[in-house]
Amino acid sequence: MSDKLSEFLRRRSEEAAREPDPMERSRRLKLLFEDIYAELEKSAQPQALVSACLLGVPCRYDGKSKPDLSLCGRFNAGELIPVCPEVQGGLPTPRTPSGVTESGQAVLDGCGRVINRQGEDVSFYFIKGAEIAYRTAERFKVCRAVLKQHSPSCGCGSTGGVQGTRLTADGVACALLKSQGLTVEAAGE
Ligand code: SF4
Repeated sequence: MSDKLSEFLRRRSEEAAREPDPMERSRRLKLLFEDIYAELEKSAQPQALVSACLLGVPCRYDGKSKPDLSLCGRFNAGELIPVCPEVQGGLPTPRTPSGVTESGQAVLDGCGRVINRQGEDVSFYFIKGAEIAYRTAERFKVCRAVLKQHSPSCGCGSTGGVQGTRLTADGVACALLKSQGLTVEAAGE
């Protein structure tokens, strides 16, 4: 099953990457995640969420990925469940990069915001994506996550601030998962 799953992820990611319309690309990526969840539910016992871009899924703001070979190996073994809070929260791919004003937790508390480089408040999408990531953890009954550092969503201990700055704080999805008791490990560059 594992090689089949890995090949499925690769092929569908390549197909999505060829899609020129940013909203349609995100829609295809969301369908890919749901298909993988269905497959994992049938035949695997995953242990943790993982930022999908670390598995080679082209879901980053620039339409690219940041694959981590060791995590790809764990995905092959059926251990990891891919999530992308920004795509699953409803943002297009590629998309305007964003940053948090203070911290992911402040965004969740309603006293911070996620602002993109065009000055738009995109907090709603980040909060929605964080909630979807948490519901995915509940669905698979996992209490761990491996998340891409420096991201305004996934960042663990280091997150993207507005206009490309970097903050010593968690991103929105990371903060929500931690607040619900998950253990989060930072990965990637
Ligand atoms: S860091 Fe998180 S939100 Fe950003 S592309 Fe990767 S999975 Fe998606």
